[in-house]
Amino acid sequence: SFTAVVIDSVDGKPKGQFRSLTMADLPDHDVLVQVAYSTLNYKDGLAFTGKGRIARRMPIIAGADLAGTVVESRNAAWKPGDKVLINGFGLSETEAGGYSPYQRVKPEWLMRLPDSFSLEQAMAIGTAGYTAALAVLALEDWSRIKPGEGEVVVTGAAGGVGSIAVSLLASSGYLVTASTGREETHDYLKHLGASAIMDRASLTEKGGPLQKERFTGGIDSVGGTTLANVLAQTVYGGAVAACGLAGGADLPATVMPFILRGVSLLGIDSVMTPMVKRERAWQRLAEKLNRDHLAAMTTVEPLSNLPTLADAIMDGRIRGRVVIDVNA
Ligand code: NAP
Repeated sequence: SFTAVVIDSVDGKPKGQFRSLTMADLPDHDVLVQVAYSTLNYKDGLAFTGKGRIARRMPIIAGADLAGTVVESRNAAWKPGDKVLINGFGLSETEAGGYSPYQRVKPEWLMRLPDSFSLEQAMAIGTAGYTAALAVLALEDWSRIKPGEGEVVVTGAAGGVGSIAVSLLASSGYLVTASTGREETHDYLKHLGASAIMDRASLTEKGGPLQKERFTGGIDSVGGTTLANVLAQTVYGGAVAACGLAGGADLPATVMPFILRGVSLLGIDSVMTPMVKRERAWQRLAEKLNRDHLAAMTTVEPLSNLPTLADAIMDGRIRGRVVIDVNA
């Protein structure tokens, strides 16, 4: 038997719990993975604390990400010893997730670990980091934002998506403005490559529909009035990638930036992204993500610390990324 974190109903509410499971408790999918690491994403905090309805069936093993080694495979694409990772694909929502030392998964969810990353680094990136890469690609594909031209703002900058977005944008040649509510992270954000820091309070008050044009682009993890203000401060023809809702799921904005300045709002979903695009995002990370930055933003924590960590990420107290050692 082994210990896994399961979301189950307690007094009618979803809550994370430690459970002793056996192989028979895992789903009957074709590839058995020995999991080395998972991660802590905002969504994992929502699931564990029950503050968000992430688990669509219960009980379900939590953890949106996993990285490990194939142990058994009934599918020709994967063989024992292969180093693999999964981001999303419903893990912890409709499918059993990565907070377990073993997991059985569908072959089509698996990605080969890029050669230049260790299993631990892959989970230091995790869903948050791969989402940041998707957002950078979305801004570039949309094609009017070029390195060296104007400021790109990153909101929730000291969080997981934010930290990787700041570092990746800076390494790719963009001028990055990091918006954060935590003064103690300013030096950290500059170390990751931010050239300017702004206090997030200046984006949380409701502002006018069209404000002074400042940003050529944006990567937003916060939503709510923050996203509305970023749109209102985006230059003519600019674009903002919407990734998250750490400050709220509403969008109290007007259509003015869209219809008077041709601003675009680009939606980012990481969970069901097709494999081709995932590979592009991971390739970008492999090529451009500064490994010293990655190390500086990462802490490794045992699975047993999840109750504390889940509360911390819900309270906005996690800096950068947390790797979860599922065997500790
Ligand atoms: P995280 O590490 O907790 O980062 C969120 C950051 O947002 C915090 O560190 C904080 O940054 C800021 N923040 C928190 N509460 C806030 C508030 N009330 N008002 C304003 N800012 C606030 O979480 P994460 O894992 O990076 O995820 C960030 C967001 O992206 C989450 O909403 C998550 O659900 C979403 N997400 C979406 C996808 C997708 O597929 N679209 C994938 C991954 C994540 P500062 O302290 O620097 O201000």
